[in-house]
Amino acid sequence: MYNAKAYSAASAKSLLAPTTIARRDPTKNDVQIGILFCGICHSDLHHVRDEFAALMPTIYPIVPGHEIVGRVTKVGSSVTKFKPGDLAAVGCMVDSDGTCPECQDGLEQFCPNMTLTFNSPDKHLGGVTYGGYSDSIVVDERFVLRVPSNLDLAGTAPLLCAGITTYSPMRRRGVSEGKKVGVVGLGGLGHMGVKFAHAFGAHVIVFTTSPGKKEDALRLGADEVVVSRNTDEMRKHTGTFDFILDTVSADHDINAFIQLLRRDGNITLVGAPTKPLSVAAFGLLFGRHSLSGSLIGGIRETQEMLDFCGAHNITADVEVIPIQKVNEAYERLLRSDVKYRFSIDMASLKSE
Ligand code: NAP
Ligand code: ZN
Repeated sequence: MYNAKAYSAASAKSLLAPTTIARRDPTKNDVQIGILFCGICHSDLHHVRDEFAALMPTIYPIVPGHEIVGRVTKVGSSVTKFKPGDLAAVGCMVDSDGTCPECQDGLEQFCPNMTLTFNSPDKHLGGVTYGGYSDSIVVDERFVLRVPSNLDLAGTAPLLCAGITTYSPMRRRGVSEGKKVGVVGLGGLGHMGVKFAHAFGAHVIVFTTSPGKKEDALRLGADEVVVSRNTDEMRKHTGTFDFILDTVSADHDINAFIQLLRRDGNITLVGAPTKPLSVAAFGLLFGRHSLSGSLIGGIRETQEMLDFCGAHNITADVEVIPIQKVNEAYERLLRSDVKYRFSIDMASLKSE
């Protein structure tokens, strides 16, 4: 074992503060990574404040962070994909059983024995896993991703969650040229959804509650922007969308978007509001509309997404912050005031 610097929260009401955590020495299959950047996902905030208590109660102290990019510092004797000095990335998962039907299908996120990057039972050290708000992490090489060398690293970190979470359902639903696609909420996930839908050739419409984000939405690749609180603007699009991706993190009226779907159109939820949403049955019945969910993506697809980003030079638009500003960043996230992902420069942890 060795000590790593990190930021943790001691309770749902505590601020994140500097700490020291134990990391395992790399076993033969492990890759040790010196973390350079870690994105701030809204899920970090939900977990820190125990907002997912009904499903996944938070065990304190919590070290969040699952959008990790860094450089390999050490590898175990059986590791073949990485060597010291290589760029490497880690997303929301660090282990799974590798044998269940989900793992065999490359969908490790649904493995009943999957280990999340933070707040999951730690099979090696006991206690729970600690995430990327830290200067170092040790991960089984099966869960370490390769980073295309041409990409900006601060903007690459958010691809590991916001990127794959939006890429995966769009690929599955055939988002492509000739399709009319909506993205609800222009935050971390939403702005990646816009970039991917645009890159896949779709006609992209952003739904936002923040009129001030209109110019940015167009610059990010949207063809049109609708302020979702304006019912007249919304009504113009009734019955026209092939696919809508809903990334909203808080309670909202999903029925207003269901009625914008064309026949057999689908709306996929990736946002995770803590309270149940209310869905009007007739909104689904008429037009045979469907409502689905989607959770990150498997390791194979995450690598495919990173390679796609390398080929098309896609990264997140980030505001790079020192870790000392993390609590302020959480407050801004709650006010939808981020353009469009915070990425923590982990060099700032050295001064703690
Ligand atoms: P974020 O950066 O905070 O973006 C959320 C956006 O939702 C905001 O920027 C805002 O966009 C909109 N919004 C916020 N409050 C709203 C409200 N009351 N009514 C309507 N719109 C509202 O968050 P994120 O990191 O993208 O994460 C979004 C959600 O996805 C979170 O719940 C997170 O836990 C979840 N998530 C799910 C997965 C998965 O695998 N399914 C993965 C990662 C995250 P506008 O200003 O444009 O309206
Ligand atoms: Zn996330």
